[in-house]
Amino acid sequence: AQLDTLDIVVLVALLLGTVAYFTKGTYWAVPKDPYAGSLANGHAKAGKSRNILEKMEESGKNCVVFYGSQTGTAEDYASRLAKEGSSRFGLKTMTADLEDYDYDNLDEFPEDHVAMFVLATYGEGEPTDNAVEFYEFLSGDDVAFSKGAGADESPLTNLHYVTFGLGNNTYEHYNSMVRNVAKFLDKLGAKRIGDAGEGDDGAGTMEEDFLAWKEPMWQKLAETMSLEEREAVYEPSFEVTEKPDMDAQASEVYLGEPNKNHLEGRQKGPFNAQNPYIAPIAESREIFTVNNRNCLHMEIDVSGSNLNYSTGDHIAVWPTNPGKEVDRFLDVLGLSNKRHTVIGVKGLDSTAKVPFPAPTTYDAVVRYHMEICGPVSRQFVSSIAEFAPTEEVKVEATKIGKDKDYFHETVAEKNFNVAQLLQFIGQGQKWDKVPFSLFIEGLVKIQPRYYSISSSSLVQNKKISITAVVESLEVKGAPHVVKGVTTNYLLALKQKQHGDPNPDPHGLNYAITGPRNKYDGIHVPVHVRHSNFKLPSDPSKPIIMVGPGTGVAPFRGFVQERAQQAKNGENVGKTILFFGCRNRKEDFLYEKEWEQYKQDLGDKFELVTAFSREGPNKVYVQHRLKEKSAEVNQLLEQKANFYVCGDAASMAREVNTVLGQIIAKERGVSEQKGEEIVKSMRSSNTYQEDVW
Ligand code: FAD
Repeated sequence: AQLDTLDIVVLVALLLGTVAYFTKGTYWAVPKDPYAGSLANGHAKAGKSRNILEKMEESGKNCVVFYGSQTGTAEDYASRLAKEGSSRFGLKTMTADLEDYDYDNLDEFPEDHVAMFVLATYGEGEPTDNAVEFYEFLSGDDVAFSKGAGADESPLTNLHYVTFGLGNNTYEHYNSMVRNVAKFLDKLGAKRIGDAGEGDDGAGTMEEDFLAWKEPMWQKLAETMSLEEREAVYEPSFEVTEKPDMDAQASEVYLGEPNKNHLEGRQKGPFNAQNPYIAPIAESREIFTVNNRNCLHMEIDVSGSNLNYSTGDHIAVWPTNPGKEVDRFLDVLGLSNKRHTVIGVKGLDSTAKVPFPAPTTYDAVVRYHMEICGPVSRQFVSSIAEFAPTEEVKVEATKIGKDKDYFHETVAEKNFNVAQLLQFIGQGQKWDKVPFSLFIEGLVKIQPRYYSISSSSLVQNKKISITAVVESLEVKGAPHVVKGVTTNYLLALKQKQHGDPNPDPHGLNYAITGPRNKYDGIHVPVHVRHSNFKLPSDPSKPIIMVGPGTGVAPFRGFVQERAQQAKNGENVGKTILFFGCRNRKEDFLYEKEWEQYKQDLGDKFELVTAFSREGPNKVYVQHRLKEKSAEVNQLLEQKANFYVCGDAASMAREVNTVLGQIIAKERGVSEQKGEEIVKSMRSSNTYQEDVW
């Protein structure tokens, strides 16, 4: 019989489908993010194997340190473990981003190898973005491994593993990511080596928890794997080659451009955590300015991009380090004269990923890619000691690195960043013997900062509002005031937009026009992160929002949206906002706007305020919540959603407790039962948090 065109099309489609099915995507899978690979030296990621065993064998590794990282700390700990395993115990180590690999062959993991998992818990007990797929795989009801036929209940008996979790005890689900992963692995027969480590950011002891955990872990690992400890010698992971003959302005030199597209002057989506959109700032102003505190409102125009957001999402701002700190850093390393020298950077091992694109310059690396302003870790001081300018300084640095209490009083309490510390202990001498690789390895890659979008996508879907307080941390006895990197950068942009040709907040001297002036005309690099913090899909449902300070940001978006819905004739449910600040005359955010929303929404909208510094007693949002017990409970009984945004450490926790008490009192049940009801509201998503 003759085949007509349609038959052929159908047959070909069937054939392709069958091939696709049996090859499980080996041939046709496209890399998830076509731009991700352009970070490292512009090499594309396409075609890179997702087979971790193959990768380890190919590169002669017997230890892989996986990381699930959101803000870079877990990634940093992972590389420190890899580094130490190699230098102290001769392990052949590599680090691995969890999202870069598949896990269905973990059952073939060699018995004499070890897998480490350094896992941060994000938000309400969730995996970090890069760990979502790994977590979904492992937590699935019937995890299928490559050796196949599910009869084997303990497919991972050969897998030796180590875990460290990064969490925050002020959150409900403390370290739940690492705990769950360990539980799944154990259930599948894997064998843990050493204790399960947990670091607590809430108590401020993350670094010390990590340091205290890793020593006994290494001893146990050495015992299990018959490793012999040796005198650790520093071996750089990266080769940094100066190219004095090359012109820094040459078109192939990265001067802070985040990837190849940007270097070539193209803005091409998708825009994401690897590829920011350089967005114009449409509008900026200060909502309040009191003494040394100020709060910014900005409108970021994303109409030139395919970026979209929905109300409740986050916008990420890519910071630039302040010139003042870039200068200090380069100066103390004796690199000031060579700041614009072109450098090539290469991983000395096939698994060492250069965390920024090269060739580049010292100036660009320090300004755009390294977190140079943050706190210094004790382990970092230890590792830099051997390169001290003099014997005396070396003794001091070694002591700081070894002695937890001494570190605390000489470094941590003084809020030193790296360069400030090196200046202080080096007594004015240059640290010019430190290999630059040590900074690439030891300092965290600069992280975008997230802001809860304070506008509604229904009202302005191509303009994203930010509400941010400019950070400034002054501690008694510390010689420096810590200035927030990103918020002061935004402040400088605002000043420029308002006519200051050379804005210089606090002498920080930001290069706000960006690499090769590409951010000129008041632009800022951003991307959007979607969140689960969402209004109910049915606008007639009541909502209760608690958002003191900048915690009000997403709720401005929520109320803006409901006001619009009301204007559109929709039936909008009761909308209560608990807002708190110091003083109505000082830091009452969006005071006038609430009046407008009140007009649009009528008695559907209620603003309840708490001004902590007005009366003789401090009044906070949780007090107001309690005063409104009956109404709050009544709304909850009408299936209201309850939202909290802002300070995680104390406010969010207290609000949680108070809500339990309200429910207990109003419904005549025990406080324990009240707490349980709040818990169940959390699991059914009627209690949502957006806290930091
Ligand atoms: P950074 O430079 O990151 O410094 C922040 C703080 O770190 C300092 O104040 C200090 O306490 C500490 N620190 C820094 N360096 C040192 C040092 N050397 N020694 C000791 N301590 C140090 N913020 C808002 O204003 N509005 C929002 O809507 C908002 N939404 C958010 C939503 C989410 C999901 C998250 C995670 C955070 C949100 N934030 C928000 C916080 C925001 O992301 C930033 O953390 C904040 O703006 C500070 O950024 P920065 O770069 O200015 O400060």
